[in-house]
Amino acid sequence: MKVTVDQDRCVASGQCVVAAMEVFDQRDEDGVVVLLDPEPRAERAEDVRHAAAVCPALAIAIED
Ligand code: SF4
Repeated sequence: MKVTVDQDRCVASGQCVVAAMEVFDQRDEDGVVVLLDPEPRAERAEDVRHAAAVCPALAIAIED
């Protein structure tokens, strides 16, 4: 699984961090998403898919 984020689309809502805190973080200054792990391990795949599904800005893309 490969993950990318679009920081220009991100609206800093934080749902991705709640869903998968090992993979996503937020910038201290403005809350925009920071991708911690662009190639998460298989056991995190479900959480990452959930994060992408709940992102209100559709700023998370997943490639299998
Ligand atoms: S859920 Fe989407 S909009 Fe919210 S912080 Fe994460 S990437 Fe940004």
